[in-house]
Amino acid sequence: MRIIESDVVVVGAGPSGLTAARELRKAGHSVTVLEARDRVGGRTHTDVIDGAVLELGGQWVSPDQEALIGLLKELGLETYSRYREGESVYIGADGKAVRYTGEMFPVSRRTSAEMTRLIDELDRLAAQMDPKAPWEHPQARELDTVSFHSWLRQQSDDEEACNNIGLFIAGGMLTKPAHAFSTLQAVLMAASAGSFSNLVDEDFILDKRVVGGMQSVSERIAAELGDCVVLNSPVRTLRWSESQDGTTTVTAISESVTVNARYAVMAVPPNLYSRVSYEPPLPRRQHQMHQHQSLGLVIKVHAVYETPFWREDGLSGTGFSAGSIVQEVYDNTNHEDSRGTLVAFISDEKADAMFELSVEDRRRQILESIAGFLGPKALEPEAYYESDWGSEEWTRGAYAASYDLGGLHRYAKHQLTPVGPIYWSSSDLAAEGYQHVDGAVRMGQLTARNITTALQKQRALIG
Ligand SMILES: Cc1cc2nc3c(=O)[nH]c(=O)nc-3n(C[C@H](O)[C@H](O)[C@H](O)COP(=O)(O)OP(=O)(O)OC[C@H]3O[C@@H](n4cnc5c(N)ncnc54)[C@H](O)[C@@H]3O)c2cc1C
Repeated sequence: MRIIESDVVVVGAGPSGLTAARELRKAGHSVTVLEARDRVGGRTHTDVIDGAVLELGGQWVSPDQEALIGLLKELGLETYSRYREGESVYIGADGKAVRYTGEMFPVSRRTSAEMTRLIDELDRLAAQMDPKAPWEHPQARELDTVSFHSWLRQQSDDEEACNNIGLFIAGGMLTKPAHAFSTLQAVLMAASAGSFSNLVDEDFILDKRVVGGMQSVSERIAAELGDCVVLNSPVRTLRWSESQDGTTTVTAISESVTVNARYAVMAVPPNLYSRVSYEPPLPRRQHQMHQHQSLGLVIKVHAVYETPFWREDGLSGTGFSAGSIVQEVYDNTNHEDSRGTLVAFISDEKADAMFELSVEDRRRQILESIAGFLGPKALEPEAYYESDWGSEEWTRGAYAASYDLGGLHRYAKHQLTPVGPIYWSSSDLAAEGYQHVDGAVRMGQLTARNITTALQKQRALIG
């Protein structure tokens, strides 16, 4: 067993843990990062499958994501814009594909007015929220005890408007059915992106991609950190102590490595906290809170074609439908690639239904659904792949964790409270950039600042 002495041990080499490690190193502290997988990047993974470069996990960057944009610059990584010329396609309740341009779906005048009204109301609620303290929203308890599904129907009797607005948060972001999370959680999702209007504007929220792939953020940081990043080392135990004078110790034990440190950063999604044994155990509040945070489920489908054929038909590749198997589809062609790539998403209960099918039937039904937006040429891709994060042991869902009904106002104010020397850092705990790589980076930076302050205090104590 290798034994390493470090000021800080970081559990998890995703963007949050690696950012924390990088900042701690910059502040002059020694760091070891232990990663369960055989690669860095966590929920960002850029891979070559059947000759096609695919973004299996997180990929898009929006203009408000200043922490990530700043980090990309520091790391010398460039971005490019998502292809968005031409018409989009909407499939409404009648199942017909309708081409449109602009931000509003081609729905009836009444449904359009209702959607605008609901967006305005969600913008108003989001403007009242500090994403750092959603529990302080003036209607926190009221909004946290009603599901987003029911709240939408309290506001409007237009089912198509409710389904479309529901889609932006439920299928589109939290990847849970709208009956499974609260309206406060939906408002937090909006507030963390600046407004609900930003979330529904795909030109904003899905603005840019990283040349070379989003995983290169983690790969570049890991290259800077060198031997300090240890792969294939799932941490099984955190043994910690805190003495009365405030000095702390923590030992992180994986199968191959033991790290003795002053502080630990748990940079894993909250649904995985209980994979680690804590000695002594965590306090009651953490035990309870962690049982109310769970990941959603989404299948991210990649289909690669000889050319981006939809562009010749005057289509952008963008399609939306609350009722179809595929709820969203986009042109995801790589930078300077002559081939055309589509990415499509199938969320929560529809994903459940797809996973009931055989591999062949699932592929056929998904491609038929994409063809419903973009025509029959979509049926025959050169490469096809389904990202299934729900079956990855070290993630177990996608995109990120959210609270169940009532959990956000009840628990979230304690989610960043350290336990002795153990700090929590994850995109799933972020305010701005919540559930996104930007939030992971912000949390890594914040955690590194907090630990640096704590280390300085300890050093002053020790003398
Ligand atoms: C399909 C998909 C699409 C997405 N799309 C976008 C997008 O377009 N834009 C965007 O900004 N975000 C997107 N996201 C979200 C984004 O990828 C995450 O928010 C981000 O990766 C979270 O970073 P993190 O460091 O907090 O956690 P993670 O990336 O999950 O990293 C945690 C790391 O901890 C490791 N780990 C877990 N348990 C242990 C243990 N016991 N010991 C050691 N290591 C452990 C894991 O292996 C992992 O490497 C998407 C995510 C998915 C899955």
